[in-house]
Formats: sequence, structure tokens, C-alpha cells
Amino acid sequence: LKIAVPKESDLGELRVALVPDIVARFIKLGFEVLVQSGAGQGAHFTDSEYEAAGATIINSAKELWESADILLKVAPPGEQEGEEEMNWLKPGSTLISFLNPLANPEQVQALAQRKINAFSMEMIPRTSRAQSMDALSSQANIAGYKAALIASASLPRLFPMMTTAAGTIPPAKVLVIGAGVAGLQAIATARRLGAVVEAFDVRPAVKEEVQSVGAKFIEIPIEEDTATTGGYAKEVGQSTQEKIRQVLTEHIKKSDVVITTAQVQGKRAPLIVTEEMVGQMNAGAVIVDLAAGQGGNCACTEAGKDVYYNGVTIIGPLNLPATLPVDSSKVYAKNLLTLVKYVVKDGAIDFNFEDDIVDGTCVTYEGEVRNERVKNALA
Ligand code: NAD
Repeated sequence: LKIAVPKESDLGELRVALVPDIVARFIKLGFEVLVQSGAGQGAHFTDSEYEAAGATIINSAKELWESADILLKVAPPGEQEGEEEMNWLKPGSTLISFLNPLANPEQVQALAQRKINAFSMEMIPRTSRAQSMDALSSQANIAGYKAALIASASLPRLFPMMTTAAGTIPPAKVLVIGAGVAGLQAIATARRLGAVVEAFDVRPAVKEEVQSVGAKFIEIPIEEDTATTGGYAKEVGQSTQEKIRQVLTEHIKKSDVVITTAQVQGKRAPLIVTEEMVGQMNAGAVIVDLAAGQGGNCACTEAGKDVYYNGVTIIGPLNLPATLPVDSSKVYAKNLLTLVKYVVKDGAIDFNFEDDIVDGTCVTYEGEVRNERVKNALA
């Protein structure tokens, strides 16, 4: 089977779906590996490194896509020179990529119509068995780390306590809202930088994890059920959200930094930090809103921009993993290797829909959209 890896066509996407170390692993497994010239440029991997690992370098994007039995990609297919990239794939080939299928089900439908079998990396089940393929986690971890660094670099004061001959400076107070993968890494990073950290999440089960990375958990008694059987957060009702806002108001007021990461799969991110709350923060305070791409957890957030409101800086970064492309590409490539190894049996992809990983992740097969949640999103 030919595994093909294109150069990402979105200019801001510096990640690549395959790194030289992993090329060698695919070749050992019997795959032929084709890499588009310049594919690794954004992440500082050169064509010659891919070649030395055993890949064949292809100059033309179109030729690369047309040659693929399995195409590995980071961002959903886009356009190049007025042509849809996915139209270059041959019918019966397999695309494995982030596809944002719940927000963009029309593209999934178009892939089905083209008879492309597509696996969506967002849909890898969040189970222990699938952990090594879990690209949402591998990328969220990097985003959480970077969010804490951005906060510390934007704050006009220090994170750590410092006792010097010139006096003692108290540590910065950081509040992290949403303690999933990104939130926990943001906590750990802010702690490493010396801040005092507290955190909140609607899922009470995360309390211990929050404490284990060194933050104080803010307890808010919630009567409704806040987690799905899959462990994801549910959208909470208006009255619960109001109660959360009331408790968090006092915490937000005294924080130097607020990092928000709260998301509900397939929905707009919950609005947690209101304009009024921002208005009560100290001048110089910083909010980093990791949910900016999903509508934002803060009312003042503008996706992809820095907003200044009453002395507070609100940063709404998009695609933070792409700002650390070396390591985000390495872990993503590892996630893909594990998935490909898992689904390929005897030289062909085994579409065994009895298996929860294949069933959950494969969103199109033989001309049909086959995932209920994507079908619902289309309806
Ligand atoms: P996510 O990005 O979907 O959401 C981030 C966090 O926001 C979650 O912790 C969520 O509970 C929280 N949140 C949602 N609404 C909120 C609100 N109104 N107020 C405050 N917080 C709110 O989460 P994620 O990091 O992708 O993790 C999703 C789930 O998957 C978690 O249960 C996580 O523990 C689990 N997970 C399991 C595995 C595994 O077992 N292999 C791996 C990774 C994640």
C-alpha cells in the first residue's frame, strides 16, 4: 500500500502528518511512503531527511494525492489553485485526517460521494485502548502548555514568587477553567513557572487530577449530570451555568491570569466569563481563551485576535499546536502510525465495524456517511 503525505495547503498549518522517524516505521511494516516535496518544511524536517528514511519525494501535489492508497493529513482537505484537493484522491482510497466532521459534515458527505473512505482523527474513542491514537489529546496537551506560556509572556508581572534583596514579589494567581487534557497541562505548566493555580471543571471526576498537578479545585455543587457515558462534558442548563458564573466571579476578580479551555463536543463553547466579569478584573490581567475557535468561553474573545478591554488583555489563539510544529507533528505522526497499524491487516484496511475504534473513527465507507453523529449534523 502507498502511504502519501502532502504539504499542508493552509499557510498557517505548519504541522505535517508524518516525520522522518515514523517513515522508517511504516517502511518496516511493508508500506511504500510518498512525501510531497516541502511537506516537512514548516516543522523543520527536510526532504533529504524523509528520503534518507526511505520515502520517495514527489514534487507535484496533484500527483501525490492521486497516487495515495492511504493519504495522511493534518487539516481537512482544502483548495489549491482553484481545485478541491479531495477531488484528486482516487475512488476507493482512504483519507486519515482531522476532518472537523460535526462542524463541517458537508465535506464528509462530499468525500462519501467521491467514494473516499475517510477516518476522522477527532472521532478516536477516548478509551485506554485507543489512547496511543488519540490525536485530540496529543494536540490539546501542546495547546495547554503554550496557553500558559502565552499568558506568562503577556502578563505585566512575574509568575513565580521572588525573594530578592530588592524585596519579595508574590506569585501570580492563575485560574484555569476546564480541566480536560489542555487545562491540566496549562495548570502543570503554570505551576512549573511558579504561579499559584486554582481550577474548575463541570465534571467533578477531575478534582483529583487537578490536585495531582498542583492546583486547588474550586468546588461548585452541581445537581445535574454533567458527563456523558463517554466521559465528555454535557452542556449544562442555564441555571447551572448561572450558578457557576456566580461562584467563579469572585475567583476571576482576584486572578491575574484566566485560562479557559471549556468545550462541549459538537456544540458552541459555553460562555463562562461575561463582559461584566472582565470589567471587574485588575488592570493588566490576561485571559487566554483556548475555546476561541468554538465561539469562546469569554464574551470579549475574538478568534485569532488580542482584545484590550478595560486594561485586560483577552487572547483568542487559534491552532496553538501549529505554533510548536516539531513536537506536535511528532506526536500526531505517532498517533497515525498506531491507527494505521491497527486497521491494516494482510496488506489492506480491514473495515471491521464490530471494532469500536474503526466504527467510531471511520466516517465514510463505500459511498456512505456512516457515523450517526455526522448524519445528525447533516440533517
Ligand atoms: P474538551 O476539550 O472536550 O473540554 C475541555 C474541558 O472543559 C473538559 O474537561 C470539560 O469537562 C470542560 N467543560 C465543559 N463545559 C464546561 C463548563 N460549562 N464549565 C467548566 N468546564 C467545562 O475535553 P478533553 O480534554 O478533550 O477531554 C474530554 C474527555 O475525554 C475527558 O473526560 C477526558 O478525561 C477524557 N479523555 C480520556 C482519555 C482516555 O481515556 N484515553 C484521553 C483523553 C481524554
